[in-house]
Amino acid sequence: MLKNIFTKWLIFVSACSFIDGKPLNVLFIFTDDHAYQAISAYGSNRNKTPNIDRIAQDGMLFNRAFVTNSICAPSRAVILTGKHSHLNGQLTNGQRFDGEQQTFPKLLQKQGYQTAIIGKWHLKSDPTGFDFWQVLQGQGPYYNPPMNTAQGVQKITGYTTDVITDITLDWLKNDRDKDKPFFVMSQHKAPHRNWQPGPKYLTKYNDINIPEPETLRDEYKNRLEPASTQAMSIDGHLSVNDLKLKAPGNLTPEQKARWDAAYNPKNEAFEKAKLEGDALFKWKYQRYVKDYLRCIDSVDENIGRMLDYLDESGLAKDTVVIYSSDQGWYLGEHGWYDKRWMYEESFRTPLIVRWPGVTKPGTQNTDLVQNLDYAQTFLDICGAKSPKDMQGASIVPLLQGAKPKNWRKSLYYQYYEFPGAHSVRRHYGVRTDRYKLIHFYMLDGWELYDLEEDPNELYSLYGKPGYEKVTAKLKTELNRLRNQYKVPEDTRPLTKVPRVKKKKKSG
Ligand code: CA
Repeated sequence: MLKNIFTKWLIFVSACSFIDGKPLNVLFIFTDDHAYQAISAYGSNRNKTPNIDRIAQDGMLFNRAFVTNSICAPSRAVILTGKHSHLNGQLTNGQRFDGEQQTFPKLLQKQGYQTAIIGKWHLKSDPTGFDFWQVLQGQGPYYNPPMNTAQGVQKITGYTTDVITDITLDWLKNDRDKDKPFFVMSQHKAPHRNWQPGPKYLTKYNDINIPEPETLRDEYKNRLEPASTQAMSIDGHLSVNDLKLKAPGNLTPEQKARWDAAYNPKNEAFEKAKLEGDALFKWKYQRYVKDYLRCIDSVDENIGRMLDYLDESGLAKDTVVIYSSDQGWYLGEHGWYDKRWMYEESFRTPLIVRWPGVTKPGTQNTDLVQNLDYAQTFLDICGAKSPKDMQGASIVPLLQGAKPKNWRKSLYYQYYEFPGAHSVRRHYGVRTDRYKLIHFYMLDGWELYDLEEDPNELYSLYGKPGYEKVTAKLKTELNRLRNQYKVPEDTRPLTKVPRVKKKKKSG
């Protein structure tokens, strides 16, 4: 009997990664739509994120982290499965995630880990592979969220970013099995549209102007038609709710009083009505970006609370902390909000990892990594083997400062949700260190960018003299990747093509 227990223990410990004889814990902090341009560790000129920066100061920041499909639910499915959208079944936001399939949390449970997810889940089916879960319903509101649990729905009063941290800390302090290592995913709704700030930050930035990005007034010349027919422009597509000309409908009287004192929606609507042309455009940009940044302020403050708890509890030294987002975001670049495109700002995503004793403090990495790699990385950190059918690669060697010789030299991307919100055409493409080739395949149109010469992606070089060789090479590489990842032709019909509203000028 004793021998049996000893053998089981030996199997368990020999399989895990260790610090001082203990298996590692992992705290994965994840946001929704967080632009790397709004993180000071990434050089933001718009805001400061001192607590996210703490992770970077003690760890490694990835400058070339990307997603495979830049939208909420598909990105989450890729992270859980380590497989591209066409294999995990989550091509678009509208689908229901098949929770019966293999995911990394299930594999970690087999490894002896206790797993938990708190916050935004957004996959329609209930979470599977978690010992504890408490998740927002769908997108979830910024205030007073009803949350789904294995025991039913709990209605909670408070600001959702604070609430998610409270529940995560409560689970870490009081509910987890302290004899087991943990993998906890603390996943925020913020800073997703429509950017409702928390009570503490409602008036932050009131007295300053946020810098505008270079491409805010992009006119979409020198590219194919899709960039000009989207429905995500700050100028033409922000709603009354986005611009806070109406208060949210689900506030408590106390929250409502604070909100109205900060925004005075009626007065703001009156002031807006007096503006036109570029003055109105500027007003909308400031309005939008300030609310977005205020949501980040709450995220950052709450990350500080988590890091402080790890320090105070002594857990910090054997807990790997990972910060990332489900994709990047346009903070006015190309005149946009939202994501979906293979253009850099939404294709990229923040990724920062602190692994005490392993990541060299304050290092930056420029290798091509993708959210496709997260599952295998998590398994590797926790000492578990990755199944052969996962399609990424563990980034643990990169975290150790040792790039494998055969590390990938190109990335594959595909976006499927058209017809759909914001009218971004389906496209796939390949990105190397220097070039990006995009195929809008329903239109059979191509774009080519030289990211060294044109980092803002304003001039497509496709079909221009002198780029024949580069284009041919990239097409070969694109085909190679599509074969490697077993990508089928996307033959889904264009059932309902939305009418694209003509972009209103400062409407
Ligand atoms: Ca998202």
